[in-house]
Amino acid sequence: MNLVLFGPPGAGKGTQAKILQEKRGLPQLSTGEMLRAAVAAGSPLGKQVEAVLARGELVSDEIVIRIIAERYDRPDCADGAVFDGFPRTIPQAQALDRMLDERKRQIDLVIELKVDETILLARVEARINSGQSRTDDNPESLEKRLVIYRRDTAPLLDFYRQQGKLETVDGMAPVEAVTKAISVAIFTRSGKGAA
Ligand code: AMP
Repeated sequence: MNLVLFGPPGAGKGTQAKILQEKRGLPQLSTGEMLRAAVAAGSPLGKQVEAVLARGELVSDEIVIRIIAERYDRPDCADGAVFDGFPRTIPQAQALDRMLDERKRQIDLVIELKVDETILLARVEARINSGQSRTDDNPESLEKRLVIYRRDTAPLLDFYRQQGKLETVDGMAPVEAVTKAISVAIFTRSGKGAA
């Protein structure tokens, strides 16, 4: 099964992707984590994207499409994956459809974590206070990431709604309740993986 977790920064995509990975053995494919790892390793890719990440802007479609395809072709994705933070633009979503099509696969379900944007700043602040913050966890960067989310990423909701693949869950609920709602959505779609 191939799942996309969708929502603005701070919606809980990473948290839920990790839970899905643990519970269902579907690898979490987080472009944000891959890019941060490249920056931390000081690789050529890392050097290329470091400033863009720090500013809270999107790296090029070409780069993220390439790293996702490389990652998806590893054997642990044989049964599918959870896409976290990808796709973020319409061209990325089209490229993902093409990539999966070439492999005789498809996106099965897109789960939108719907949240009230006013809590996102509080969540990012909590991440800072817990010592788990990232270089792009600051109010200015968050504001920019939200503007970009609304402009470039939110239109994907219609893209996937038109494909009949979109399910929305309440991302404001406690973590366990969100996990449960995601399980129900998966179950309803596939008849597998009991809630
Ligand atoms: P995230 O961890 O998903 O919030 O991503 C952190 C940062 O990585 C973003 O603010 C972007 O700079 C970059 N990034 C992650 N995923 C993508 C993507 N799909 N397209 C472009 N840039 C991305």
